[in-house]
Parts: sequence; structure tokens; C-alpha cells
Amino acid sequence: MTKHEVPKDHPRYQSLFIRESIIEGMHKRIVAEAGLIAHGRGEAFDYLLGEETPQFALEQERLATIHLLLAKKPVISVNGNVAVLCPEEIVELSKGLNAPLEINLFYRSRERELAIETAMKEAGAKKLLGIDPDKQTTIKEISHQRRIVDIDGIAVSDCVFVPLEDGDRTQALTHLKKEVITVDLNPLSRTSLTASVSITNNLTRASAEMVVIAKELKHLSRDELLIERSKHNNSKLLETALFYMSNRLTRLATELSIKKNE
Ligand code: ATP
Ligand code: MG
Repeated sequence: MTKHEVPKDHPRYQSLFIRESIIEGMHKRIVAEAGLIAHGRGEAFDYLLGEETPQFALEQERLATIHLLLAKKPVISVNGNVAVLCPEEIVELSKGLNAPLEINLFYRSRERELAIETAMKEAGAKKLLGIDPDKQTTIKEISHQRRIVDIDGIAVSDCVFVPLEDGDRTQALTHLKKEVITVDLNPLSRTSLTASVSITNNLTRASAEMVVIAKELKHLSRDELLIERSKHNNSKLLETALFYMSNRLTRLATELSIKKNE
């Protein structure tokens, strides 16, 4: 089945369409094979959220956007899954936040770099950092290919937005005293636990919501943004995410046992 063959009246149309898009992205060499497995883990956690954005996630997205607007050199890191899931939203966010896009890959090959560059350009991106070999440097704290970064991008950035990141790199970037903002449906992953701001939501929803939030917050002064930032707390929000999932499961289990006894 291709993504266009998914029946529109299927009760899980949205989820199936995205799944087929990821598979298609793998055939086009945009998505790594491990990207499919990561997507499956994300889907499982999205079930726990009820596949919709809870209030706490909107607050996480607001806090993340404030950090990105306050940063001196914000950068948005792009990988294969991001390029398939929400390329237009990420391009819009890049424009709205004045944050360049940088391709940064765990499974790096020239073929994948170029496939992702093409996908992002089709979505409206003008320029992608991270793929010019003359401008690459390495972060020594990271042992794999993700250590390669652009001298004008992540290397000099004070705040990196990494939708869908691996735990090791999140930790390494925070050790380098960079703020790291992540989107990860699993609130227990090392990524979520170590990021400066964790967004516990599906990237497809989070990216679209952040575009709207950025438009709204862009008009605030630096002082107003600082006041807004002080109203939110990342650890508290992550705690809320876990309680939300756990309370939702308890409620669903209770409803099931009531039904069974009827
Ligand atoms: P960590 O390295 O952070 O401990 P991990 O090794 O389990 O976690 P990775 O493969 O490094 O996970 O990163 C993939 C993460 O991305 C998973 O936790 C998964 O839940 C999450 N994920 C996958 N797809 C999405 C999506 N569409 N939106 C948000 N999160 C997603
Ligand atoms: Mg990992």
C-alpha cells in the first residue's frame, strides 16, 4: 500500500498515512531503517496520550518556543524522520524563529544527506547547514557520526532544537552548555530526562502547534519573554506528562472493569 491508497474513512487514517509516509521515506533513502523502529516506539507512547495534544504539552511547546526566541543563535536539527513527518512546519518554524536548519544524522551517508536536503527544499527550505564537507567540525564528546556538526550551526549555537533526538547526543550537547529542546513521546527516555526543555507530544502535532505559538510570541519584548519563561518549569511539566499517562491508564482500566461487571 502507498500512503495515497490508505482509505480515508479508516478509523486510524492519520496514523496509517504517516506510517506509510515513513516507509516511503525509507525507500527514498530519507529515513534510516532504525527510523522505522523509532517511529513504532513513538506510536506506542502516542496511544498512552490518546493521540491528541494535552494541555501540559502545549505548555511545554510554549516554554520551548520562548527559549528559542530568547536564544542568541538558535539552530533546528533535522534528521530523516523529521524530513518526512513535518518538513513544511519545520521550515516555517525556522523562518519564524530565525533559526537555521542543520542536517544531522546518526546514520550518515552522502546519499541520505542529499535525499533529506531535497525533501526539505521541496518543503520550502532555502539553505541547509551540516552537509558542506568544508564546514564540518566534530563534537568530541560524541562517539558516532552525529558528532559531525556545521561550524556555522550547532557548533556555535547556544540553543539547539532537536526534534527526535538520541539520548547520548542530548547529554553531550547539554554538557557543552547548550540548551537542548527535544520532542519525544517517551517521557522516560534519556532524551526527555536530560533535555533543557522536553516536549512530550507527537512531532506532527507539536511542530504545527509551535508554528502558531511562535507567531503569537514573536511580538513580545525580551523582558516580556523572560517573564513568560519564569511561569513554566520543565521538570514539573515532565512530571505532569508521566502523571497524565498513568492517570489516563488507571481511568481506562477502571472503565473497562466497570463495563465487564455490567
Ligand atoms: P534515548 O536514547 O533517548 O534513551 P531511545 O534509544 O529509546 O531513547 P531513540 O531511538 O534514541 O530512542 O529516539 C527515538 C525516540 O523518538 C523514541 O523515544 C520515540 O518514542 C520517539 N519518537 C518517535 N517518533 C516520534 C514522533 N513522531 N513524535 C515524537 N516522538 C517520537
Ligand atoms: Mg537512543
